[in-house]
Amino acid sequence: MKTIRKPGAMNRETGALRAAGRSLGLVPTLGCLHLGHLALIKKARRENDVVAVSIFVNPLQFKPKAYQAYPRDLEQDRRELEKAGVDFLFAPRAEDMYPEGFDTRVEVLDLVDKLEGKSIRWHYRGVTTVVAKLFNIVDPHRAYFGRKDPHQLALIRRMVADLNFPVKIIAVPTIREPDGLAHSSRNTLLTPEERVAASAIPRALGAIETMIRQGATDRQELTMELVTTLAMEPLIKVDFAAVVDAETLEQDVFGKSVLIHAAVIIGGKRLTDNRVVTS
Ligand code: AMP
Repeated sequence: MKTIRKPGAMNRETGALRAAGRSLGLVPTLGCLHLGHLALIKKARRENDVVAVSIFVNPLQFKPKAYQAYPRDLEQDRRELEKAGVDFLFAPRAEDMYPEGFDTRVEVLDLVDKLEGKSIRWHYRGVTTVVAKLFNIVDPHRAYFGRKDPHQLALIRRMVADLNFPVKIIAVPTIREPDGLAHSSRNTLLTPEERVAASAIPRALGAIETMIRQGATDRQELTMELVTTLAMEPLIKVDFAAVVDAETLEQDVFGKSVLIHAAVIIGGKRLTDNRVVTS
């Protein structure tokens, strides 16, 4: 596996691969890799001649304190990527992604306001900006994203369609720990008590899923039920909860799939998870 730091060097490598007619899959990550990331990488490995994984804790999508606190372990990640048969690790430095004078943002205007987006527009603007840059630098045929982050996935699909990026977006199901908690780099920051409390998240999502399967359709009521169920765990502070149409992310649109989405704070760490129920 080749580790590349400079955007220009990455672009030259993948340009040569494209010219040689080889298919290229990109898995963008923030690093501190876990089984969720590995599921994306495995799928990319199966579907492409060459696999590139990017590891970049993007300062544009974090508040300064959270940026500092985000877990990082590049050496361990490198070992995992070698084992997974990855060809390129692209791990740029912030100053090379955002050099002096950097002044451009990529923003999806309306879709960003769905779910909890209104209060964290700046976050998603950072995500779409960095993903647009990664697509330009790596120029992959396919890029892999987790269903764990449904709003992010929807925004990236929108951006790719709107800006004509020649890349196919592939969505990968959420990988979970045995108690149902979604794998997340932030799980490593939880104390043992907080980790136990976190298992209330998949339980609460499962309870709402059952209600929907049993015929419940009032999404406001389902959302209230989700908040109440989550709040029964004393260490959980509910930051956001919603039950919406899975396609449009609108509460009052009734398509064939429903998205149950929750964001909670446990000991200062923000964890998100969701379920999609298809009728
Ligand atoms: P992150 O490093 O948290 O930005 O995640 C990188 C990619 O992995 C994103 O597309 C996430 O949606 C995806 N991802 C994160 N956790 C999981 C998981 N537990 N299962 C599947 N995909 C995941």
